[in-house]
Amino acid sequence: MKRIAFQIAKYFVFGALYFSGLSALYRLCTTQRLRILCYHRISTHASDPLLDVPMERFRAQMQHLKRHYIPLPLSLMIDHVRRTPHRKDKPPVAVTFDDGTTDWFTRAMPILEETQIPATFFVCTGYIGNGLIPYPNPHTPATALSYDELVKLAASSFVEIGGHTLTHPHLSELDAKTSYKEIEGSRALLSSWLKREVALFAYPFGDAQDYTNETLELVREAGYRAACTLDERTFGPHEDPYALPRLVIFDEPLWMFKVRISGVFDDVLVFILLLKKFINP
Ligand SMILES: [Zn+2]
Repeated sequence: MKRIAFQIAKYFVFGALYFSGLSALYRLCTTQRLRILCYHRISTHASDPLLDVPMERFRAQMQHLKRHYIPLPLSLMIDHVRRTPHRKDKPPVAVTFDDGTTDWFTRAMPILEETQIPATFFVCTGYIGNGLIPYPNPHTPATALSYDELVKLAASSFVEIGGHTLTHPHLSELDAKTSYKEIEGSRALLSSWLKREVALFAYPFGDAQDYTNETLELVREAGYRAACTLDERTFGPHEDPYALPRLVIFDEPLWMFKVRISGVFDDVLVFILLLKKFINP
């Protein structure tokens, strides 16, 4: 019952923001804000709504980005846009994927190439080639990328590869030495497999309790230039490059996706809190 009430409230809030035009207006007024989207898997049908986005939905989302945003490779967004103020009429956006499943190669890459959208894939190296994925679910079968698929994926001009540890642990629960092995190990393996610099990292799980200030420091020491969390918000040019927020994308209707990535929730939450204070001082 509680879940149904939450769903109704969610549709109501998203609907009000979308159909009033507020989320589109917000997007147009915040072209200086940076958005990084986080995907996991692209599926052929609706399966696990938290991890899978069906192909047709993903294609429509990429077409929306092409029309209303400036899709950039994540490395370019953090190097260039942060130094030079963004003066375009559309906000920049970067697309990322976490973990390392075979659908990246078979389903995501063809759509990214078709819509000409660059993306960063954060690979958990321990799973490459062994058929297993970090969190197997019998209802949503998915296999890990093979080594050959990873090499072919990385060869695409639309793709950059980042580290996501060796075994997908909660880094905050490990001692510094083991943490460093997980963080640096995936960078070293990926650069030797792909013969290129690997400069971007994503924290497994990515919530505030899954990494510490010490983890951020270890990521920097390991040679990465930036790292992503799952702190769900847009951000400005002065954000810590070792804790970049990302918006997680779920299997949701296109209009909900538009509201989510507009960033309007960053301020709606502040507005609700202010309103609460005003009504109930
Ligand atoms: Zn992950």
